[in-house]
Amino acid sequence: MAQTHREIVSYELMFWHEGHVGNWGFGFPCTEAGVVMRSTLNDGAAKNYDECAAGVNGTIAGGVRKHVQRIALCPCGSGQDRDELSDARGIFCAFVCGDCEATKRAKYRPEIFASASYAHDEPIDDDDGPHMSNSDMDGEMP
Ligand SMILES: [Zn+2]
Repeated sequence: MAQTHREIVSYELMFWHEGHVGNWGFGFPCTEAGVVMRSTLNDGAAKNYDECAAGVNGTIAGGVRKHVQRIALCPCGSGQDRDELSDARGIFCAFVCGDCEATKRAKYRPEIFASASYAHDEPIDDDDGPHMSNSDMDGEMP
């Protein structure tokens, strides 16, 4: 069975405010072993971390918290991340990846990707001749 998601795992070293363990405090990105990547913190966060680590700001060390982010993969089963294929109007068409984009794109009329002014509000079938009247061209301005 093809995978539908992949997981991104990250870890945070938690410090809770006294009296608020589990719901209010600081979290710093860290390794699985709880080593904080201090160089990745901005100045404010680095200061907070130093105060937490030194135990001078009334926080309680809360250990490592694991976060799992589920990233949806392309439904074609390639195992790659999916992208949204949208037409020139920004209308969603399909989820695609590098493997299947050309195939899926080919199922749509090419002009819908080329210009947002493609004809619409008409049945998507090939008609027999040019149409001279199109109510959309009667000067509908935003
Ligand atoms: Zn795909």
